Amino acid sequence: MRVILLGPPGSGKGTQACLIEEKFRLPRISTGDILREAVRRETPLGRRAEDMMKRGLLVSDDIVVGLVEEAVQREEHRHGYVLDGFPRTVAQAESLLRIDGRRPERVLDIQVGAEDLVDRLSRRHVCPGCRAVFGPASPPGAEEGRCAACGGALEIRADDKPEVIRERLRVFEAQTAPLREYYRSRSVYRTVPGTGRPEEVFGRIVGQLEAFLSGATEERRS
Ligand code: AMP
Repeated sequence: MRVILLGPPGSGKGTQACLIEEKFRLPRISTGDILREAVRRETPLGRRAEDMMKRGLLVSDDIVVGLVEEAVQREEHRHGYVLDGFPRTVAQAESLLRIDGRRPERVLDIQVGAEDLVDRLSRRHVCPGCRAVFGPASPPGAEEGRCAACGGALEIRADDKPEVIRERLRVFEAQTAPLREYYRSRSVYRTVPGTGRPEEVFGRIVGQLEAFLSGATEERRS
């Protein structure tokens, strides 16, 4: 099963992608994580991407599509994957089809209001070690400023500054939101309310994916 998560920045795509990976054994491909790692390691690709990322703009297609092509063609992704942060434009969606040769089975659009997004993004902390994402407070039992999962030092993402957040949301509306129509017309598009605790949102996602999987099993039987 190939799943695409399509929410705006701050909608919880990364968190939900990790939960999907664990429950459905679908490897996660996150273009944001791959790019941040390249920037951290100061690779030539990371140096090319860094400026656009800092400004909240999209990295050019030749960089991102190349990364996804390499990832999707790996053996471990042959039976499916969950894509977090890709595609972000209709052109990228077309490239994915060319690279993979098959359509995604589900595109889940996690929907959260603009006010909530700004609030979530400006308060979130991330663990660069294990990539866990936290809200403002340290979770119960965790040391202040430390990751509850691996103990690493928590950071604020460079692009979670208020002016960059605004730019990322603007870019989403201008360049990524048109993907909703693109996938809706291909009948793989489903909305998922993104409000509530991560486990509640995940419950809705599980419902969507299990419905798809049982439908696919029925189809094979008939
Ligand atoms: P994310 O972690 O998904 O919020 O991505 C962080 C940043 O990485 C984005 O603001 C972009 O600068 C860049 N990025 C991630 N995925 C893509 C993509 N599919 N196309 C272009 N730029 C991307």
